[in-house]
Amino acid sequence: MTLDNDLWFDPAKCLINGEWVAPASGQVLPLLNPSNGEQIGEIARGGQADVDAAIDAARAAFNGAWGRTPAAERGRILARLGRLVEARVDALGRLEALDVGKPLKQARADAVALARYCEFYGGAADKLMGETIPYLDGYTVYTLREPHGVTAHIVPWNYPMQIIGRSVGAALAAGNCCVLKPAEDACLTALAFADLAKEAGLPDGVLNVVPGLGAEAGAALSEHDGIDHISFTGSVATGSMIQAAAAKHVKPVTLELGGKSPQLVFDDADIGAALPFLVNAGIQNAGQTCSASSRILVQRGVYDEVVARMAERYAGLRVGPAMSDLDLGPLISAKQKGLVEGFLAQGADLETAAQGVLQDAPDGGNFVCPTLFSGVAAGHALARDEIFGPVQVAIPFDDEEEAVAIANSTDYGLVASVWTDQGARQMRLARAIRAGQVFINNYGAGGGVELPFGGIGKSGHGREKGFEALYGFTTLKTVAALHG
Ligand code: NAD
Repeated sequence: MTLDNDLWFDPAKCLINGEWVAPASGQVLPLLNPSNGEQIGEIARGGQADVDAAIDAARAAFNGAWGRTPAAERGRILARLGRLVEARVDALGRLEALDVGKPLKQARADAVALARYCEFYGGAADKLMGETIPYLDGYTVYTLREPHGVTAHIVPWNYPMQIIGRSVGAALAAGNCCVLKPAEDACLTALAFADLAKEAGLPDGVLNVVPGLGAEAGAALSEHDGIDHISFTGSVATGSMIQAAAAKHVKPVTLELGGKSPQLVFDDADIGAALPFLVNAGIQNAGQTCSASSRILVQRGVYDEVVARMAERYAGLRVGPAMSDLDLGPLISAKQKGLVEGFLAQGADLETAAQGVLQDAPDGGNFVCPTLFSGVAAGHALARDEIFGPVQVAIPFDDEEEAVAIANSTDYGLVASVWTDQGARQMRLARAIRAGQVFINNYGAGGGVELPFGGIGKSGHGREKGFEALYGFTTLKTVAALHG
């Protein structure tokens, strides 16, 4: 499989001020296919000079045409962009599958989600309003929601299209101009999206893309005084550095840093209904999902049954190249594979309940078999640390109090789910669990473009998705007029 059939843009360029330009250094980085380890192309190695130019272009667009574009028109452009994405779902899906290694149908679903983000934020652009505030006699007080200005978007490799949709889509709808730094391991769909945005009529400079290494283009962007806000999704270590860089110039940041998300299964749960969610939420995108459910907490009365039925499903999981469109593809890189194998080695003392099966997996690919460990203590490294691979642990518990204590025992707090028919317990646990999203008798609610998403603790802060993201991409101004 090569790129040629699906590329309608040059992946070795940056998009700055509406022009495709080579990075100032003239340097490129290899583009690797995670399914076989082969180099399939080159991407731009952007750096400080490209970031400077992109920020200048974004600032000029913000002070110029985009700053004067009515909200309804911003919305129309986004809606048009969504339709262009929709028309290219197959090509975008193939690009993402090739670049990230995710099975084709999952990659295509990400492209559909990107279109939906454009549709949602296109529709929301002219519905973002301030308030009037009752105040002292003789005053009229109101608030204005204004864009930050130039927003920086540093995006990881696991769900490029979805994360660009929720982050750049909301920022544009709110009236910002964006500089996007996609991950060095997967930037093709970011470039494709930017090209489609041009076609949709987004003015030059409103969306700029500078691919490159985190320590170069990423650091140059996050340390720049010319940006007004940073939206980052990725690892805790990098997020912490970005927050420190932003602090130098007192810039606001939104951080989405992953998790160790639990599903709590009680004796009274409908286990048949829970099973697909219990497994899929752990192995989707080969476990490289910030909201992956890597901890399955099960009440003792149904513990053996749940583990046995999950194991049956694991035995049917097939792992292979992205284009074979099986249940799991490879991990993004040899480095990521090494990290996950390191975690698997730490599980050598645990009971392996089940594993999936490799199928026609080329030697050079970054494949790891999905693995379910059972009887794991809540304090074990595999039950505590984010693995970012297809590894789940099953942990038994006796009662509700213990379940909540285990659920809240990691540094993270992104997503959780509770499987029980008892209404009062559902309500109690929705409050007691520390997480940005709690699902009751489901997990993930089908992606939920409309649903505010983000974490607490080391999962980060700020919210993306839904209307809440629009608030995050604006700053609130209070206007108080004394008129007597
Ligand atoms: P990372 O956090 O290093 O990379 C994410 C993005 O940040 C990329 O675009 C990268 O180029 C950029 N970046 C890296 N260093 C930077 C710096 N100093 N300044 C500015 N930007 C920088 O993640 P990774 O190395 O690709 O993956 C490592 C781990 O991160 C994974 O094992 C996983 O645990 C976690 N991760 C989490 C998510 C998530 O959705 N929460 C996504 C990807 C990775």
